[in-house]
Amino acid sequence: MSTNLQITNINTWGFDFSSPLTISGPCSAESEKQVVETAMALSKPGIDILRAGIWKPRTRPNAFEGVGSKGLKWLQTAKKLTGIPVAVEVANENHVKECLQNNIDFIWIGARTTVNPFAVQEIAEALRGTDIPVFVKNPINPDLELWIGALERLNQVGITKLVAIHRGFSTYEYSEFRNKPNWDIPLELKRTFPKLSIICDPSHICGNRKSIQSISQKAMDLAFDGLMIESHIDPTKALSDSQQQLTPSSLEKLLSNLIYRKTSTDNPELNSQLERLRKVIDSIDADILDNLSERMKIVNEIAHHKKLNNITILQQERWNQIINNALDIGSSKNLSDDSILGLFKIIHRESIRLQNEVMNSNEKELEELLSIKVK
Ligand code: PEP
Ligand code: MN
Repeated sequence: MSTNLQITNINTWGFDFSSPLTISGPCSAESEKQVVETAMALSKPGIDILRAGIWKPRTRPNAFEGVGSKGLKWLQTAKKLTGIPVAVEVANENHVKECLQNNIDFIWIGARTTVNPFAVQEIAEALRGTDIPVFVKNPINPDLELWIGALERLNQVGITKLVAIHRGFSTYEYSEFRNKPNWDIPLELKRTFPKLSIICDPSHICGNRKSIQSISQKAMDLAFDGLMIESHIDPTKALSDSQQQLTPSSLEKLLSNLIYRKTSTDNPELNSQLERLRKVIDSIDADILDNLSERMKIVNEIAHHKKLNNITILQQERWNQIINNALDIGSSKNLSDDSILGLFKIIHRESIRLQNEVMNSNEKELEELLSIKVK
C-alpha cells in the first residue's frame, strides 16, 4: 500500500538541535532528585532532549510501573534548571492530556503501544488540533507496515512533526541483543519516507552497557539522524533497565568517541573514483540478475518434470545440499553464513513460488510446453 507522510523537518521545530540529535535521560523518573541530578549532569555532554518514563509498560505486573503524573513536575523543574526540553512516553489518551497540560515538549510512543492500532488511534485522537512533536518507536515485532501505520494515524490527525525511533525487535530464539536490530527495516522506512528523520535507541537494542558504543556507531554509519540513550545518575540503583543505563559521564565519553561520517563528499577526485567503482557494482548486479533469471528458467523446467511425475516441490535433502554447498563456497570467499543463508532462503522462496505456479497450472498448457521443448 503506497502512502505519503507530511513531515515537518526537525530543524524547523524551533529548537536548537545538534546533528545528530541526542536524547538521553533515565528509563524511569524515580524521584525529583534523581531526575534533576541526571539532567544537570547531562548538561555537560550537551544533549538536545531529556527523556524520562513516567508511566512504564512492564512485561510482568508488580514491577515498578512508574511514578505517574507527579513525575511530570520533576521534569518541568529539570527543564527550568537546565534549559533542556523534555520528552515522555505516552500510551493512552490520559497520558497525552497530562503531558499537554504539563508543558511536556515532546512525546514518544513506546514499542508496546505502536504494536496496537487501537491504542495508537486513541493517542492520535487526543492529539488532534495540537502540533506537539511525536517520536514513534518501532513495534516490538518486526512489522514495518505496523510502524508506518502508526505514523500514518498520527499524520491523519494533523501531526507532521514526526520522528521514528528504531529500538530493535523482539525474538523468541536466543540473540546477543535484547531486541534484534534488523537494520533492513528502519532502512526500508527511510527509503520509503526520505524526509522522515529516524533515530536509533541502542539502549533497548543492546540491553547491556557494553555494546551501546558499537551499535551507536553503526547507527551513525547508516546515516541515522540521532540517538536516544538511557542514562541514570546511579544506574546500578535504577528501578528499571538498570543493566543498560549509562552514567552521564559514560554517555559523554560515548558521544565523544563516536566517529561522525559525512553522507557525501565534494572532493571531485574521490567522487569520480566512487562513480567508477559504482559502475562496476551496477554491472555485477546486472550479471547477478541475469544468472538468477537463468536459474529460474531451469527451475521452471524442473517444475514441469516434477508435475508430470508427481514429485513434491520440496525435497529436503536437495535443499540441505544447496544450502551446505552455498555455505562452503561462501565461507571460502569471505561471505558470512548469515548473509548466504538469507540470500539462499530468498532464492529458494522464489523457486518454490515459481514451481507452485507451474504445478498448479493447466495440464494441457504444460504438455504443450514440454512437447515444444522435446522438439
Ligand atoms: C523506554 O524507552 O523506556 C521504553 C519503554 O522503551 P521501548 O518502548 O522501546 O521498550
Ligand atoms: Mn527503558
